[in-house]
Amino acid sequence: MIGYYSTRDPQKNPVSFEEALLKGLASDGGLYVPDHIPSIDPKNWLEATTIAEVGLNVLPYWLSQEVPLAVLDSIVRDALNFPCPVVKLEEGLSVLELFHGPTLSFKDFGARTMARLMQYFLQKRGEKRIILVATSGDTGSAVADGFAGQDSIEVVLLYPKGKVSLVQERQLIVWRPGVRALAVAGNFDDCQRMVKEAFVDPELSHLPLSSANSINIGRLLPQSLYYLWAVAQTPLLAERVNFCVPSGNLGNLTGGILGSLVGQPVQRFVAAHNDNHFFPDFLAGRAEAYHFLPTVATVSNAMDVGSPSNFERLYALLTPQRMREWIWGTTVSDAATLERMAHTYQTTGYLADPHTSVGLEALARYREQTGDTTPFVVLSCAHPAKFPEAVSKALGIPEPKEAALEALWEQETNVKTIEPSLQALKSEL
Ligand SMILES: *Cc1c(COP(=O)(O)O)cnc(C)c1O
Repeated sequence: MIGYYSTRDPQKNPVSFEEALLKGLASDGGLYVPDHIPSIDPKNWLEATTIAEVGLNVLPYWLSQEVPLAVLDSIVRDALNFPCPVVKLEEGLSVLELFHGPTLSFKDFGARTMARLMQYFLQKRGEKRIILVATSGDTGSAVADGFAGQDSIEVVLLYPKGKVSLVQERQLIVWRPGVRALAVAGNFDDCQRMVKEAFVDPELSHLPLSSANSINIGRLLPQSLYYLWAVAQTPLLAERVNFCVPSGNLGNLTGGILGSLVGQPVQRFVAAHNDNHFFPDFLAGRAEAYHFLPTVATVSNAMDVGSPSNFERLYALLTPQRMREWIWGTTVSDAATLERMAHTYQTTGYLADPHTSVGLEALARYREQTGDTTPFVVLSCAHPAKFPEAVSKALGIPEPKEAALEALWEQETNVKTIEPSLQALKSEL
């Protein structure tokens, strides 16, 4: 039986998975981490034929008996119903494409699974939730899509009007059952402030408000599954494999660490960061733990995180020494990102989005510095068509297109513009 304790609780008092999932953040402000790591026979993924099957075999070790197997079976089949192929770029280098879900980024894996798990527990309790999210990018659309149609949960999305790209906006505002988008006449900080104020406002305390940000354990555990599924698809990798993870909030990397700890040994992780470089600095011994930096804007904007919240979780799971032995980090500028995108396209024909390009550049540097010849899998985090301008400019080709994004322009929308004030948000709730 695995319990989950808050990173800020010295007593390590465990709560159930259900409680950790429905609370998201612990009351003391900490993040939930498992009180021990299950040891799982690799047969559970090596013999699986779909990622849903990996989920059905592996998640019960984390959820103990809290979700009946038949329920979990339908949850993972419904949530993880899209491909996630390993694509070989050259000898010893593959990418794991995580962008074939409905909103075309890896966030779909976590958001879709978490939404269905929450729906199960809420229905059992006869409770409802209103999920409030302030978003500037991939998280908002993955959460909107993941939770749409789960009838115990309503989603209210706040985004800064005119401050997200046209494609991103379209992904946020298309009509979805149980989802409302609010275009705030302000910036992202206004959206975040309004959400925070709403959570503590006494006049709203009767509403079952909840959040779905990337620190929820329910989003993290599903993110360990695709590492296992990558190895299952490519038997050679079961012998020896390294993963390179384009990183911002460190949720994706933490998923990989959990996947390795349960029984799929990974020799080295490479944490590929853009100009937001706290974590590479920490790994190299140039920064103390928690000496975070202000966020800077880059072309890989889903990784623009100055203070990665999952660092606190990694720090609870691994000693600093272990982190530094196991994870190698580097910081990649926008110029180096776009150069690597062009180089990869010219030498392999592969169209990598800006986030994946940060990973490909980091991997090249790692190999040059260490001479390590272990086969590498770089996580390909988003579809290039989500970043048409950057890709087109870097490669001198027409803007990449993708049918799922094109179809968005035909769909009905559901969005209302509001003033950047708590009062305006209140009248919507
Ligand atoms: C969220 C995101 C990242 C960063 O992942 P973290 O879990 O925050 O480290 C990287 N690339 C894309 C495309 C993303 O959407």
